[in-house]
Amino acid sequence: MGPQGSGKTTQGDRMAEYLDVEQIRAGNILRKEIRAQTDLGKQIDHVVNSGGLAPNELVLNLMFKTIDLLGDDAGFILDGFPRDLEQAEALDLHYPVDKVFNIEISDAEAVRRLEQRRVCPNGHVFHLEYHKPAKENICDICEKQLMQRKDDKPAIVKNRLAIYRQETSQLLDYYKKQNKLVVFDGEQSIKAVTKDILDYLKNAR
Ligand SMILES: [Zn+2]
Repeated sequence: MGPQGSGKTTQGDRMAEYLDVEQIRAGNILRKEIRAQTDLGKQIDHVVNSGGLAPNELVLNLMFKTIDLLGDDAGFILDGFPRDLEQAEALDLHYPVDKVFNIEISDAEAVRRLEQRRVCPNGHVFHLEYHKPAKENICDICEKQLMQRKDDKPAIVKNRLAIYRQETSQLLDYYKKQNKLVVFDGEQSIKAVTKDILDYLKNAR
């Protein structure tokens, strides 16, 4: 877990590699299902297109279907799921999680980081401070013009952060009570956060 700009997906990638397990990203799975136009995908598409969030029942179906495919003893890392208490409780009934890593950054830092993010039309991501393109405003990979996502503009980021905090505060309490929550300082460099996480995993083995 972690707010937008915390680098949680990058850290999840590195953990997945270290532990040799799948990283299951809820956003990707939802988008893939919509693209494939399955029955579930069509239902989700309909809700999302009318401006809503995919309802929990659909999200849970899809996530469990994905995890089921991994096989009985396979470990996995979840990213972007569960998003609220109802999803967490449902998950615990099927697949109790071992640990919940929360990469914490302040709202001010999240705004600062996302403000400097730039993307090309093909989805290659750069950052004016941490991952600069070689030529100003041009994608290194496909040479298309870089731009700022609407979602990354400060007013919208602040709004998304408020929603995130509201959605996850109960969730964090839930895992804290179960002694599963591990908090990492996400305001350090990406490398330093990775080191903290891998140190934790090494000690936990
Ligand atoms: Zn590109």
